[in-house]
Amino acid sequence: MPATRTDSSTWAQQCPLCGQRNGCAVAQGLPAAQCWCITADIDPKALQRLAPAERGQRCICPACGRAEPDPGARPNRGD
Ligand SMILES: [Zn+2]
Repeated sequence: MPATRTDSSTWAQQCPLCGQRNGCAVAQGLPAAQCWCITADIDPKALQRLAPAERGQRCICPACGRAEPDPGARPNRGD
């Protein structure tokens, strides 16, 4: 069997954090404006988990990239 590494297009479509499909529009040959990450809030902490070599190379998936709701950080309005 050929010792092919992961196909580059598949590699680009995988989340570097969890290995699931990242849904990146650019990796699928679509305009970046169609990518979910354009409208989503990306958790900066998720990006910090990326290896330096991965930053800017691959998109993370919505599950990893979306900022997790922090129950202890709710804005306390109406005081
Ligand atoms: Zn992920």
